[in-house]
This record gives sequence, structure tokens and C-alpha cells, in this order.
Amino acid sequence: MTATLLKGAPIAQHINEQLSEEIAHLSDHGITPCLVSVQVGEDEASRIYRNQQEKKAAALGITYRRLDLAPDMTEGQLAKQIHGLNIDPQVHGIILQTPLPKGMDLNAMQEAIDPRKDVDGVTQANLGAVMAGRPGLYPSTALSAYELILSTGVPLKGKEAVVIGRSAIVGKPVSMLLVNQRVTVTMCHTGTQSAGLLEYHVNRAEILVVATGQPQLVPGAWVREGAIVIDVGINYVDNAIVGDVAAEAALERAAYLSPVPGGVGPLTVTMLMRNTVQATRSLTGF
Ligand code: NDP
Repeated sequence: MTATLLKGAPIAQHINEQLSEEIAHLSDHGITPCLVSVQVGEDEASRIYRNQQEKKAAALGITYRRLDLAPDMTEGQLAKQIHGLNIDPQVHGIILQTPLPKGMDLNAMQEAIDPRKDVDGVTQANLGAVMAGRPGLYPSTALSAYELILSTGVPLKGKEAVVIGRSAIVGKPVSMLLVNQRVTVTMCHTGTQSAGLLEYHVNRAEILVVATGQPQLVPGAWVREGAIVIDVGINYVDNAIVGDVAAEAALERAAYLSPVPGGVGPLTVTMLMRNTVQATRSLTGF
């Protein structure tokens, strides 16, 4: 078996078309969605990510504003800046770029964002919404992985899924999105690895999502025949980007595999834009 590659770009293209229609509808009512990216200090990875966001926003007709703040500001000052955006009716989405300078409490600063404008889905309110299966702004990376799974057209109910990684913005929300579709989900982490049980669980997975940041953690030989494999990892090894799955060998066993780069990544920014449009519509009532 040679897996079908689940590329993010064609799916993103399809979603962009839907978003363009919604943005045109908002424009008919004099509304342009506006996303503000807040950066405290400087960071190379987040500079690249912001450039991608700006390019995608421009292509769709979403206003993208950058708010660049000094690295030595206090949490109180940052919270005040965020509050200003919360109450600005021209602003529909707020993304707080990470990492924050050392010593700043990321969770507290994320909680300062109005959940209705939290287009990155990082507030407790939105994480709770994924958990409860209620409408909300879900984390964009989790949505991207989920959309790739949906794109296979394989019925999900009753499938065995294994998610490796239990972060609040990737592993846990992906697990909840799947469980809300009545997929049977096993979550794995370093505890699973210490217990020597990763291979056992991966072997059983009809849907495998790997989000650990550990290059080639999953050898291809572990992958179940015919599995859907979503590799979320982005790792820089010898000047190349590789995922968390040994892709070449996994391709021989899986039915579908998302490549790194080119799988989850290109779709994540699109999910952020979709959340921005969703936030704009619910804030404005259009
Ligand atoms: P975190 O570091 O927050 O979480 C990593 C998770 O992986 C933890 O739950 C950790 O377990 C688990 N883990 C780490 N090592 C192992 C191991 N050896 N065996 C089993 N589990 C392990 O990472 P994120 O969730 O933020 O990101 C995960 C990956 O996804 C990264 O490579 C990141 O770059 C990438 N990413 C990609 C995006 C995209 O758009 N494509 C966007 C966001 C992230 P434990 O909890 O026990 O420590």
C-alpha cells in the first residue's frame, strides 16, 4: 500500500473560497474582519508565522494589524493593551504570539483575551467549548488536523484513534473533536512512552495523530495497515523540516498520511482566518 498524501493546500483553497463568500457578505454590510497580532519582544519563528498570517489575511481581504510591544513591559501593561483590543469594535480577532518574554504568565495573558475574539482558541472558555462539543473558536492547529481527517471521507464513528501529545492547544482538542464524533480515542504522552506502551497503542490506531515535537518518534513499522496518519510535528533537523513520524516507511503502510511540510501547517493559518471570520460574524450579527 502507498498512502495518499493529505496535503493542506488544496483543502485550504476550498475553505478560502467559502471564506471569500462570507467576507463579501460582511463587506456588503460595511464590515471588514480585522485580526490583531500581538507580539511582545521579538522571536524568529513567530516573525515567520506572522508573515504567513499577514499574507493569507491580505489574500482574503481580512485586515491584519500588528501590535508590537516592548519586551520589558509588565503583565499589567500587556493586559491593558489586550483590554483595549477587547473593547475596540473595529477589532474582531486577537492572537497573542508566543513565546512571551521569560517570567510572563502565558495563561494569565491569554485569559485576558475576550473569548469572543480569541481566534486562536486558547482561552478556557473556548477550550471548554471543544470539550463540551459546543460552538466556539477552537484551536487552529487542532482544527487543521481534524479537517485533514475529515477530508478522507472515511466514516469516523467507532474508529480507534490514538493521539500522541496532550497539549492544551493540539493533542487534547484534537482528541475532543474526535471523541465528539464517537471515535474511540486513546491519548498518549511521555508516561505512555516510559511505560513502553507507545508501539502497542500506535499498532492499534486506525487514526493516528502525532503532535509531540519529537523528530521521527513513530517508526513507520509501527503504523497500522490502512491507517489515517496526521503528523502535526514541525522539527528542524540538519536544515530540513521533518515531522514526528518516519514518513517514508509509514507511507508503505498507511492509507493516508499528511506530509511535513505541506500537511497540517498550510491549513493552520487558514483555520485562524476561518475563526476570524466566524468571530466577526458573531460579534456583528452578520
Ligand atoms: P507541547 O510541547 O506543548 O506538547 C508535546 C506533547 O508531546 C506533550 O504532551 C508530551 O508529553 C508529548 N511528548 C513529547 N515527547 C514525547 C515522547 N517521546 N513520547 C510520547 N509523548 C511525547 O507541543 P505542542 O502540542 O504545542 O506541539 C506539538 C508539535 O506540533 C510540535 O512539533 C510543534 O512544532 C507542532 N505544531 C505544529 C503546528 C502546525 O501548524 N503545523 C502548530 C502548533 C504546533 P507530556 O505531556 O507527557 O510531556
